[in-house]
Amino acid sequence: MARRSWQTYQTLLGLPGEPVEYIDEYFVSDAGASTSDRDSLTDGRPRFAKLESELLGDLAPRPKDFPPGSHPFGARTVRGTSWMMFNINAYARMLVSDFLASGGKIAVVEFHSPADLGALRQKTIINATGYGARALFGDESVVPVRGQLARMIPQPDIHYGLIYQNVSFVPRRDGLVFQAIGENDYYGFGDDTTVPDRAEAERAVTTIASLYA
Ligand SMILES: Cc1cc2nc3c(=O)[nH]c(=O)nc-3n(C[C@H](O)[C@H](O)[C@H](O)COP(=O)(O)OP(=O)(O)OC[C@H]3O[C@@H](n4cnc5c(N)ncnc54)[C@H](O)[C@@H]3O)c2cc1C
Repeated sequence: MARRSWQTYQTLLGLPGEPVEYIDEYFVSDAGASTSDRDSLTDGRPRFAKLESELLGDLAPRPKDFPPGSHPFGARTVRGTSWMMFNINAYARMLVSDFLASGGKIAVVEFHSPADLGALRQKTIINATGYGARALFGDESVVPVRGQLARMIPQPDIHYGLIYQNVSFVPRRDGLVFQAIGENDYYGFGDDTTVPDRAEAERAVTTIASLYA
């Protein structure tokens, strides 16, 4: 599935609005900082798929190390590679207009109970309600994973992303995105709160800004 999706998204490169584009991504570490071990979790939480290097390492360009002196971040360690970045607004618009152009129709309908769905004449229903499926259909298998994006005004000349001190920076066309990502994929795992955390947002921005102090 991962290979097929990778191949499919290559066909969206270079389209108007750039729904998908490649960016350079740099992992910046402080000199002597220890790196987290994602496989060391032994507390019974489910393992996330770990495909990047083991099974799919041949897809993306191999990471390259940039020694101090060859980058603007002083004595820090820098490793860079290229990733696909999704510009969600352009991508979502493209999906909707492709759907409509192919004869799809969007109807807003109110249902009051799952039983109401039986009245639909369509034979197939796709339940794409995300975390809402838990309340709507009692699907306890859906686990909330809280995350938060801090966004700033777009800067069209910035084409690279950064990961530094567990903060990710992505140069999306519709706004620069800063996100605390924690040491591993379990950051926010099981947390269903949706209240914005201003302090976390500021920490994310100032962490990236500190690289340019
Ligand atoms: C901060 C953050 C950053 C992320 N960054 C990335 C990223 O960079 N790349 C990536 O691949 N993934 C990322 N993800 C994950 C990605 O957003 C989700 O995996 C994806 O959105 C799930 O899509 P979905 O369509 O299944 O569910 P959702 O996008 O959650 O869509 C479900 C929809 O159903 C609606 N709904 C629910 N209940 C009801 C109801 N009762 N009535 C009407 N509507 C209802 C909701 O309002 C929602 O619009 C990120 C997630 C977070 C939180």
